[in-house]
Amino acid sequence: MTQYVYRFGGGVSDGGNGDKNLLGGKGANLDGMASIGLPVPPGFTISTPVCALYYENGGAFPDSLTAEVANGIAHIEGITGKRFGDPADPLLVSVRSGARASMPGMMDTVLNLGLNDATVAGLAEISGDPRFAWDSYRRFIQMYSDVVLELDHDRFEEALEIAKEDRGHVLDTDMTAADWQALVSEYKAIVQELWGKPFPQDVHDQLWGAIGAVFGSWQSERAKVYRRLNDIPGDWGTAVNVQAMVFGNMGDTSATGVAFTRDPATGEAAYYGEFLINAQGEDVVAGIRTPQYLTKAARERAGAKPLSMEEAMPEVYAELARVFDLLERHYRDMQDIEFTVERGHLWMLQTRSGKRTAKAALKIAVDMADEGLITREEAILRVEPAALDQLLHPTLDPDAPRDVLTKGLPASPGAASGKVVFDADTAEKWKAAEQKVILVRVETSPEDIHGMHAAEGILTARGGMTSHAAVVARGMGRPCVSGAGTLAINAHLKLFRVGNREVREGEVITIDGTTGEVMFGAVPTVQPELSGDFGTLMEWADTGRRLKVRTNAETPQDCRTARDFGAEGIGLCRTEHMFFDAARITAVRQMILAEDEKGRRAALAKLLPEQRSDFTQIFEVMVGLPCTIRLLDPPLHEFLPHAEEEVAEVAAAVGLDVEKLKRRIAELHEFNPMLGHRGCRLGVTYPEIYEMQARAIFEAACDVAEKSGEAPIPEVMIPLVATRRELELMKAVVDKAAQAVFAEKGRTIDYLVGTMIELPRAALRAAEIAEVGEFFSFGTNDLTQTTLGVSRDDAGRFLTTYVEKGIYARDPFVSIDVEGVGELISIAAERGRSTRPDIKLGICGEHGGDPASIHFCEQVGLDYVSASPYRVPIARLAAAQAALKRE
Ligand code: PEP
Ligand code: MG
Repeated sequence: MTQYVYRFGGGVSDGGNGDKNLLGGKGANLDGMASIGLPVPPGFTISTPVCALYYENGGAFPDSLTAEVANGIAHIEGITGKRFGDPADPLLVSVRSGARASMPGMMDTVLNLGLNDATVAGLAEISGDPRFAWDSYRRFIQMYSDVVLELDHDRFEEALEIAKEDRGHVLDTDMTAADWQALVSEYKAIVQELWGKPFPQDVHDQLWGAIGAVFGSWQSERAKVYRRLNDIPGDWGTAVNVQAMVFGNMGDTSATGVAFTRDPATGEAAYYGEFLINAQGEDVVAGIRTPQYLTKAARERAGAKPLSMEEAMPEVYAELARVFDLLERHYRDMQDIEFTVERGHLWMLQTRSGKRTAKAALKIAVDMADEGLITREEAILRVEPAALDQLLHPTLDPDAPRDVLTKGLPASPGAASGKVVFDADTAEKWKAAEQKVILVRVETSPEDIHGMHAAEGILTARGGMTSHAAVVARGMGRPCVSGAGTLAINAHLKLFRVGNREVREGEVITIDGTTGEVMFGAVPTVQPELSGDFGTLMEWADTGRRLKVRTNAETPQDCRTARDFGAEGIGLCRTEHMFFDAARITAVRQMILAEDEKGRRAALAKLLPEQRSDFTQIFEVMVGLPCTIRLLDPPLHEFLPHAEEEVAEVAAAVGLDVEKLKRRIAELHEFNPMLGHRGCRLGVTYPEIYEMQARAIFEAACDVAEKSGEAPIPEVMIPLVATRRELELMKAVVDKAAQAVFAEKGRTIDYLVGTMIELPRAALRAAEIAEVGEFFSFGTNDLTQTTLGVSRDDAGRFLTTYVEKGIYARDPFVSIDVEGVGELISIAAERGRSTRPDIKLGICGEHGGDPASIHFCEQVGLDYVSASPYRVPIARLAAAQAALKRE
């Protein structure tokens, strides 16, 4: 019979061998901590396969689960000496979710389960603290009603607020036992009113209700959004962890906290965390009270008064520090920990590899390799390539004037400016209208996740460094300032106040998540200085990778940026971008509108010196490196005006009458321009265009060779080829131009002529195309569009739904559709090599900067990937990881 329940604690471990796929991350690590002898409250994990069965069976559990759960409860009872539902000395449990990958705050949790009208009295008696018992009961009713019964939680909040107001209390801690007891009666009345039944008193009903709710929360909207943003497959499912409660709210020798074994923002090797005395469970993360620091050093650095845990509870702190070191050595990674102190006794509730900023990830990986805790290869694998993005983006110009409004906590690094919005939906709407926004909230919750994603940055008035806003923003790589306490937000009037300043929705602010500053207006930014750790890890990565990394760039500035980031050549220079330049668009239009070849050649002659200078500047930056230059690709009508007013202007500029221009525009109209007169089809019909471009390339190459003594290595690339003959014709045009230029200049330059593989036919006929082409570069943007029959310009409208429904695991324009497009690439590589064994193979579609696609490119054995300048470091690291993981 399949085992579904795995017990841990009190010297028992049913194993699962720390298998996260089976037990979920939380369950696996609870078992792991228990098995190395750390103080973990006993409990059991219902494994992730039950989640899938639960959905398959329409919300029913497998038959054998009842007995297994009963056995799990008996295990907890045996160790704690308490009985579930015992009115004299009741066992209380927590019920929490725990998927394979951590999804902070996304799924449901129920605490204090097992309380009812009878057991609350027992708890009061045994703890000697009736106030605590009644507070626990009302928390339980509140949480259970929200999570399991799905009743409107505002009603409970309101009742609490009114109860405090009636009694003249400000804080929850002012409430007495009798106050809580009265509130419990009110809560029960609210349940009866909204649910139509009394609050469940049978502890077993409570337990099964909570287990069902946790499994149910796997398919909640917010969990689905989180999974989509984090590429977590929907079929993984969550586990459910049931564990004996321990209490951080049993007076001043009790506390609850969260901690990291190293600083998750900077990576510094110092314990880092926050705790609250006399508080329970989620109070720290929820940002309801501002927590205290863990260490004395951190408190002093922040200039905070309330004592740190190191000072307030020195013995427990020492025990905690010992646990931190054990955990780092055991898991060989920085850990994110939740703990509770119950009357001076430390309990570990969770450990997991801690989320961290890219900066911290780098530092921790390099430090741990230097400390000998991990190898250099492991260090390379530890840093998420996409996370480097955070490091590579601009920070605030230190010399620019700042109108500082206030300061909060530096919760997630980086700087961002944008228009203030106060809710997630507006953030998403404005973003869709191409506006940059900063989401300003009192505190974020999982419902805000789409708005956080849409925003450039996040600012909150409440919450610490481990609040929801801080944790999620760091994970997303968004700058975030949290806990800016002087901020008075009025979301209703859509404004916030700081002192006597007022900022309204739509006004621009800047936040600096590295310092915590919030400024009025947009503050200019500067390019980042990369740290020594960045250089070190990149060096390690470069020794480990096989794939070369080039860049997609067409301006000298972009080429320079890419070289600084380590690009080893240009993989795609799109020449059409150069044609849009204001100084030459008129000549381009004259060329397009010309009646005959003679007219076209006259216009092209004007463009030649301009193109030559483009290439000269690029070759100067890239000297000694291969530069793939693609000849003109887009349909010509893209260069013509469309708006009525513009037509008249252009007609005057090119010397045509308006009617004639309109006629010509109409002639060039295509129903499906992406599959129309573009790519090499332009070169086939108007060879003089490619001839001019080839001439400009070779003249520039000769000039740069002459000047610098080192020749660039041009690789002339023909787009959208489907057949061998097309390439043959175009190669002849390029070769002829090369010979002419070499004869004129009295020198020759080594060059290659090759093609993009962007059409399925080209991939299939690669063997014969390689007879002519000296290299292939996979244009996976077009290859995806033509293989899937999905327009790259219109896919946005339905692809999200496709991904949600699991038709494609990820957006195929972002990450290669390995099964379809990938197979064509494999075929083309193999067939190309069959005729030309040393054919150079690369990729220049957007996928060249996507880590998963780079992994695929390594498997197929391409020679290089090409990515936009800022993604070059990401590609270098991903290429090294791909080489290390190569099967
Ligand atoms: C491609 O199609 O993948 C490509 C790189 O070309 P473009 O995006 O310019 O069509
Ligand atoms: Mg293309």
